[in-house]
Amino acid sequence: MRIRVGHLYPEYLNIYADRGNIAVLSRRAAWRGHELEVRAIGMGAPVVPGAHDLLYVGGGQDREQALVSRDIAGKGGELREAVDGGAAVLAVCGGYQLLGHFYRDRSGAELPGAGVLPLHTVAGDRRMIGDVLLECELEPDDRRTIAGFENHAGRTLLEDGAEPLGRVVAGFGNDGESGFEGCRAGRVVGTYLHGPLLPRNPWLADWLLAQAIAHRTGEPPAFGPLDDALEDQAHRVAAARARSRGGRGGR
Ligand code: GLN
Repeated sequence: MRIRVGHLYPEYLNIYADRGNIAVLSRRAAWRGHELEVRAIGMGAPVVPGAHDLLYVGGGQDREQALVSRDIAGKGGELREAVDGGAAVLAVCGGYQLLGHFYRDRSGAELPGAGVLPLHTVAGDRRMIGDVLLECELEPDDRRTIAGFENHAGRTLLEDGAEPLGRVVAGFGNDGESGFEGCRAGRVVGTYLHGPLLPRNPWLADWLLAQAIAHRTGEPPAFGPLDDALEDQAHRVAAARARSRGGRGGR
């Protein structure tokens, strides 16, 4: 199958090698006989609901977020319709913040978001930086860990009915207080975790690919195992570094 990916603002929102997430999805899809077709969705370009199986948006500094904010807010209706239609989404850090209702940046400017996720973000004075380890359960009774790296000033507040992506085992997470990280709404995953995220969390890459395929077939496929020895080692190393920080950013 040709899995259609819409990459939002690749020229503005791509720090910490977030583009690497696309490379991982592409390889793991190919190893299963699928092809990833990636199309950039930039300023002023519409999001056509149903045209993408997976939408991806990376992270960015406040300056870049300010440049794309009005445009992504304007795409809010299309993005919500695409999500309601079953498209999968991965949003990282600055992109995650802009899928919420707004991001109030360090200058105090309130940047409107797409309103896809029930959350908002307010920048604080101290940046939250370091390795992170989460525990999550995207499928019932299938507890997993996610390891990555965070660097953000934003404190994200989940609104009523919002489901976090995971529980913070080590690191700051959404706000350094709640003990939770990210937000998950059906096939939509938002997270602060860079790294890039997917090379050291191959199960999450497979989960996203399966959701993208389910957008077309109705049912997520059960992928056979791959030789993930290197990925698993990268996960263990990142998890150990995070654990050495301890919870709540090591405070
Ligand atoms: N600029 C945002 C913040 O500082 C997001 C940063 C990022 O994408 N790494 O919180």
